[in-house]
Amino acid sequence: MRRAPERAAGGAGTEVTVRTSHLIHPAEAEFDEVGETKLDHLVAELLTALGEDVTREGMQRTPQRVERSLRFLMSGYDVSARDVINGALFTAESSDMVVVKGIEFYSLCEHHMLPFFGKAHIAYIPGKTVLGLSKFARVVDVFARRMQIQERMTAQIADALAEVLEPEGLAVVTEASHLCMMMRGVEKQGSTTRTAAMRGVFKTDARTRQEFIESIL
Ligand code: ZN
Repeated sequence: MRRAPERAAGGAGTEVTVRTSHLIHPAEAEFDEVGETKLDHLVAELLTALGEDVTREGMQRTPQRVERSLRFLMSGYDVSARDVINGALFTAESSDMVVVKGIEFYSLCEHHMLPFFGKAHIAYIPGKTVLGLSKFARVVDVFARRMQIQERMTAQIADALAEVLEPEGLAVVTEASHLCMMMRGVEKQGSTTRTAAMRGVFKTDARTRQEFIESIL
């Protein structure tokens, strides 16, 4: 294993804010314009049954775009956390807490197929291994790009990272706005839902947990 180039050496816990805009691959910018479609007739049928005229200008390529968009938004089924981590594991040089905060995510609620989106914050106390910092956002995407509920997504991110990193402890907190609530007026505008998954020392040691929570406030 190589040494982590992105990780500050020694001192107090490392804290970084990952900007995720660069994580969108250029090819993904055209995700709704290219690629095979075979479900577009079903989308057209659905829209027609809902009273829409899919032959009018502006809607003519909508069924194909919707299919490609959905394929992208649900592409997490095709990959595992190990796939995206792809060997970016390095020997830990200290056991200080690492906090990666503000990872943007966009997911779909499995009850209404409407987006929920927000930020994920991840912390861990390394065991023998650390992970390249950019990989945390990739792992979040693996589980966000599925039909989800926020609680399960949070737990899956924690369990996948814990399995690969074998840390002393690992914690994931996600904060999200749910369009299925906001658009239907069920939830007050601007309110967010927070879920947490604590593993290892983050579960057993209140001070470690508190240090993490304070760092993401
Ligand atoms: Zn919903």
